[in-house]
Amino acid sequence: MEHQPHIHCPHCAWEPRADSRWCCTSREPGSGCGTLWNTFWTAGCCPGCGHYWEMTQCLSCRRASPHAQWYHFPRLDEGHVGEREQSLETVD
Ligand SMILES: [Zn+2]
Ligand SMILES: [Zn+2]
Repeated sequence: MEHQPHIHCPHCAWEPRADSRWCCTSREPGSGCGTLWNTFWTAGCCPGCGHYWEMTQCLSCRRASPHAQWYHFPRLDEGHVGEREQSLETVD
């Protein structure tokens, strides 16, 4: 029974791998310790300096997105509950 969100880049759908590594650069205030780690193991928190990364750069297309947007929850993506009601035909 797995209810894990699917993780991939919101721009190009690239999926991070177990050996993917991000570097803690000085791009955000309070960051920049140079640690290399897999940011999805820590939900964007640098294990070196404890900085929570708001933006996560894709290692494939190089575009940065808010860390939360990398997580895709099946339940939210389905969202067809409202459509079913609207598709009911109205009879005059
Ligand atoms: Zn750091
Ligand atoms: Zn990408």
